[in-house]
Amino acid sequence: MKSENYIIEPERKIPVLEADVFIAGAGTAGCIAAIAAARQGAKVVLAEKMPVPGGTYTNGGIGANSFYAMSRNPETAKRVVGGIPYELNQRMLEENGGTGYIPTPDDHHHSPFRYVADHEIYKGVISEMLMEAGVTVLLQTMFCGVLMDGTRITAALIENKDGRTAVRAKQYIDCSGDGDIAKRAGVEQVPLWQDYDKVCGGPTGLVFGMAGVDTDKMVAENPKGAVRLSHSDTPYAGITAEQYAFTQVRDPERYQKIVDLDMRAFTSMSSIHKGEMTYINNSKGIMCDASKAMDLSNAEMEMRIKIMKFGNALKSCVPGFEDAYISWASTQLGIRATNAAVCDKMLTNEEITAGARFEDEIGIYGFHDLASEHHPECVIADPGFYGFPYRMLLAKGCDNLFMAGRCVTTDLKAHMSTRNVPGCQVMGQGAGTAAALCAAKNCTSRELSYQELREALLKQEVILD
Ligand SMILES: Cc1cc2nc3c(=O)[nH]c(=O)nc-3n(C[C@H](O)[C@H](O)[C@H](O)COP(=O)(O)OP(=O)(O)OC[C@H]3O[C@@H](n4cnc5c(N)ncnc54)[C@H](O)[C@@H]3O)c2cc1C
Repeated sequence: MKSENYIIEPERKIPVLEADVFIAGAGTAGCIAAIAAARQGAKVVLAEKMPVPGGTYTNGGIGANSFYAMSRNPETAKRVVGGIPYELNQRMLEENGGTGYIPTPDDHHHSPFRYVADHEIYKGVISEMLMEAGVTVLLQTMFCGVLMDGTRITAALIENKDGRTAVRAKQYIDCSGDGDIAKRAGVEQVPLWQDYDKVCGGPTGLVFGMAGVDTDKMVAENPKGAVRLSHSDTPYAGITAEQYAFTQVRDPERYQKIVDLDMRAFTSMSSIHKGEMTYINNSKGIMCDASKAMDLSNAEMEMRIKIMKFGNALKSCVPGFEDAYISWASTQLGIRATNAAVCDKMLTNEEITAGARFEDEIGIYGFHDLASEHHPECVIADPGFYGFPYRMLLAKGCDNLFMAGRCVTTDLKAHMSTRNVPGCQVMGQGAGTAAALCAAKNCTSRELSYQELREALLKQEVILD
C-alpha cells in the first residue's frame, strides 16, 4: 500500500528480548534453521505470523518432494538430502504422516523417488521437534523492522498480542519467503514473481483437498483424463499415495468448466488417504507481488473463489467426484516467488544443470521442477546433483544476515530447483548451523571458518558428498 501522506511515530520505549539467533518465518526453511541453531547450542527466537509452524509445506503447498539425485533408476539413485530434513521425514513415518520414498521411474521430472507428507501430521511433528530443541517460538508474531548499525543488524522488531518487542540477537536469518528482513535491512532484491508465469503456472497457487472421492471410479470411467502416476504401499501401515493428473487438452469438452475458470490446463492431484484427493494443485494462481499487502489480500480472496468453483466443476464433470466436497484448503495463499535477495553467490541454472560443485558447500541437491522433455536444459547432468555454496546464504552488504528458502536465488530457472521443499530445508540447516557458530564465536558470517561449519554439518548427518 502506498500513500502520499505520512505521520511521524512518537519515540517509545520497547522491551528487549536477548537471543543469539533471530529467525523471521517458521516455514519450510525457518523451522529447520531454528532446530539446527538450537541443537548447536544457540538461544533462538523464531517469529511466525501464522498460528501454526510449517509455512508453505503445511499452510500453502504440497508435501511432495524428492530427496534423491536426478535419475531414471531408483535402484541406483543416490539420496542427497540427510540431516534434520531426513530425520523429519522419518519421524513423520513413525506418526503415520508420510508415504515413504515411492519409486517413480517414469516421473517427468526425472525424480527417482517421491515422498508425500500429510500436512496435519507435519504440524505436530515439527512442533514437537521445535519444542524438544528448546527454540523460543512466537506464533502470530509479525517481524516488522530492524535497527541497524552500519552494515550490522542490531535488533529485529516484532509485533504480537504483547505489543512491540525488540529481539537483540547476534545473528539473523531471513526465512520469511519474501525477504522481509533483507528488505528492511536495505539488501537489494530482484522481483522474481514478475516472470514466474513464463516458467510455471504462476507465482501463487492455492492447494486444497476433497473428501468423498471414488478414485477407482475416476480411473475406470475416465481413463483418458485421469492418469495414475505412482502408487506405494509402505510397511509403516500409515498412508499410501496415488497420484493423478488431469489434462484438459486430452478431453476439452469434459473439462471446459475448469478451463473457463482460468485454471491451468494441467492439474496434478495426490491422494494419501482412502476416499480423499488430498492435494489438488490448481497451479495457475494469480500473477501478483504477494509481498505487497493489497496484492496479497486480493489474490487470497480471488483464489478462495476459484477453488470453490473448481471444486464444484470437478464434482459436476469428473466421474468419481459426484459426492465429493472440499474438506480443507491451505490456510494462506501458496507463494512460489516474490522477491529474491541478492547474495554473495547467486546460483545460475547453467551451474545447477552442469552439477557444479563448490569449495564451501553446506549441502547438495538434485531436483529441478522444470526438468522434462520440454526443458532438456533443466535436466541435471550425471551424477544428478549439485552443490549449495555457503555464500548463497549471505545477504550482500550485511554482516550478520543469512537468507534461506524461496527468497534465495535470483535466476528464474535456477529458482525452479532451489525453491523446492528439500532445497529450502538444506539451506535452513546450513544457515541455522552457521548462525549459531557465528554467535558463539562472535564473528561475522564472512569470518566463519568453513572447515568448522563443515564439521558441524557432518555431525548433524548433512550429506556433503
Ligand atoms: C501451490 C504450491 C505448490 C507447491 N508444490 C510443491 C511440491 O509439490 N514439492 C515441493 O518440493 N515444493 C513445492 N512448492 C514449493 C515449496 O513448497 C516452497 O517453495 C517452500 O516450501 C518455501 O519454503 P520457505 O521456507 O522458503 O517459505 P515458506 O514455507 O513460505 O515460509 C515462510 C514463512 O514466513 C512467514 N512469514 C512471512 N513474512 C513474515 C513476517 N514478516 N513475520 C513473520 N513471519 C513471516 C510465513 O507465514 C511462512 O510461514 C509448492 C509451492 C506452492 C505455492
